[in-house]
Amino acid sequence: MIYLDNCATTKPDADVMKTFNTVNEKYYFNPSSPHYKGLETNKLLEQARNQIKEILKLNHQSVVFTSGATESNNLLITGMARSKKPFGKTIITSHLEHPSVLETVRALENEGFTVKYIQFNEGKLDLEHFRSLLNSDVTLVCLMHVNNVMGAILPITAIHEILKDYPKVHFHVDCVQSFGKLALPVHAMDSFVLSGHKFNGLKGQGILVFDQLKTITHTMFGGGQEYGFRSGTVNVANDVALSRAIRIAENERVQLVKRTSKFKMMIEEEVKKLPGLVVNSLPDGAPHIVNIGFPGVKGEVIVNAFSKADICISTTSACSSKRAKFNEALNALHVPETVIAGSVRISFDKYTTEDDINQFINVLNKIYNDMKELIKDAV
Ligand code: PLP
Repeated sequence: MIYLDNCATTKPDADVMKTFNTVNEKYYFNPSSPHYKGLETNKLLEQARNQIKEILKLNHQSVVFTSGATESNNLLITGMARSKKPFGKTIITSHLEHPSVLETVRALENEGFTVKYIQFNEGKLDLEHFRSLLNSDVTLVCLMHVNNVMGAILPITAIHEILKDYPKVHFHVDCVQSFGKLALPVHAMDSFVLSGHKFNGLKGQGILVFDQLKTITHTMFGGGQEYGFRSGTVNVANDVALSRAIRIAENERVQLVKRTSKFKMMIEEEVKKLPGLVVNSLPDGAPHIVNIGFPGVKGEVIVNAFSKADICISTTSACSSKRAKFNEALNALHVPETVIAGSVRISFDKYTTEDDINQFINVLNKIYNDMKELIKDAV
């Protein structure tokens, strides 16, 4: 099997699994318990939290352990919007965002919030349009660092510079697809989220990083764990294993970028040789994501054809493919409708090899030959 759907999830690192199993066996105690085993377990949890702070070079920000980016985005966006409601009710975001952001801000519309979307111009976020959306009612800006469908990199530092003139605005960033591939602009974000399984950690592992001294409305109630922000018995084994995954991913980042950039180039060069096929991914996009359009053919048909050859790729993203929705991200980036319907995503991780890419290219050529009449008719 050749696995090229690493934006959906990655294979867990053996070291991360070992950490998880060891901690689960030896420290299954509740870190809130007052006995010595509880205290030891809590010490381990706090060590993991401090290690993450050190690796990510955080200063004043706190690390809240969650079950993943969906939970982290929900907690932060809803809590921050509600706490700032007396000062303004406008949230700015983009159509590129993951459903855990888009559906959260849309749910807030039912509470009287207004949501505005920044436009894109030739694959780039339009900073002038962003400036035009800012006014005294804006309290929250939510953007992703790297888009999960196209690999577009958003200008987080430039947004931060513009927001210096708007001190009441909280800037929240979804770094799920950028961590382990790009350096995080930690100084430019008021809060950000990560999901462990996107960088060879485990499913159900996530963090929300934010300044816990800032006022924020809690949306989960219970035992008051994780600064009162995310109640529920803490999954210490999961959180310690996540700190391990973060360390490994950060240590291997430069090497991963080098390898995956080469793979991206190999595939894009091949696609350019096949008349009618379109490279949707941007030349200056993230190194681990390639997006190809097959005009006149449904993306699902292409994914199935690769599946039959034992190669796993994806249509747009695992989340939106379940919802069978027209891809908002590709549409916002002005990809034509016929191309959107036939778009597929290929994504790499540290376990992807050059041999995988060569085999992918062979199968791509075979599939193209089978479908080239359909493609020719559509262009
Ligand atoms: N944000 C982005 C950009 C993603 O790609 C994903 C998952 O695909 C998420 C958030 C949600 O992550 P999780 O499903 O781990 O909660």
